[in-house]
Amino acid sequence: MFEDLNQKVAVITGGSKGIGNAIAIRYAQEKMKVVINYHSDQAGADKAVEQIKEAGGDAVAVQADVSTEAGVQALLDAAIDNFGGLDVWVNNAGMEIQRPTHEVSLEEWNKVIDINMTGVFLGEKAALNYWLDKKQPGAIINMSSVHQQIPWPTFASYATAKGGVKLLTETTAMEYAPHNIRVNALAPGAINTPINAKKFADKAQYEQTRSMVPMAKIGDPEDVADAAVWLASNQSKYVTGTTMFVDGGMSLYPSFQGGKG
Ligand code: NAD
Repeated sequence: MFEDLNQKVAVITGGSKGIGNAIAIRYAQEKMKVVINYHSDQAGADKAVEQIKEAGGDAVAVQADVSTEAGVQALLDAAIDNFGGLDVWVNNAGMEIQRPTHEVSLEEWNKVIDINMTGVFLGEKAALNYWLDKKQPGAIINMSSVHQQIPWPTFASYATAKGGVKLLTETTAMEYAPHNIRVNALAPGAINTPINAKKFADKAQYEQTRSMVPMAKIGDPEDVADAAVWLASNQSKYVTGTTMFVDGGMSLYPSFQGGKG
């Protein structure tokens, strides 16, 4: 269905678990070759590589911290050395720290910004330089969140980083459109991944989150991965600078449901 993706090369940051892992598996199903970046969960990344190879695909796991230039360069090098180039770069790695804003330390603030926002800049920069040098097109997909738009008290660093990702996506989409390099974002709502494991283990909290979704269900990582396939493919060839919400309607002011308000 996405024939143009066959043999294309993708780097996926934070691919050892959760959404990044689902994207890696889904891309491999489209016969793409994938560099699966992990930070500390080598077992998760190795398992994905094994799964992909057993299914006849090709992947490699590479340790790197996306908030460093050396880490991001190692991912680009792995794509070139193992698969001969780069076509798609998915800036997926992310993390969050919950704390009342007046208690957040500078170290905590910087960590969240460095991984969620600066990491996206560094990933974009590496991919852009490669494609500009080779004079070839490319596609960047940045993992944002509904919190690029919905304020999130006690998660100020995370919401700020995702808001930054939105404008970074739009600005670089405009800047590199003349080079046929597309930059888009995905904004998941509530997805069942390790980032939410503690919260969703609590039935009351799970139900509370579910009640904020008009489609009345928590999303699966595969829901986001399906959108990431489309954004990587030629089927979205005229789409750049957009954020696609994959959120069951969570960003649509659900408390107004039924005419309330
Ligand atoms: P997750 O915790 O399962 O995965 C996050 C991944 O990022 C992990 O593999 C982790 O190792 C990696 N990572 C963290 N710091 C890193 C670093 N310095 N270098 C390299 N990798 C690093 O969470 P997830 O839900 O799969 O999150 C993936 C992305 O989706 C994140 O950007 C997150 O903000 C975003 N998101 C998730 C949800 C959700 O409900 N799950 C909602 C909105 C946005």
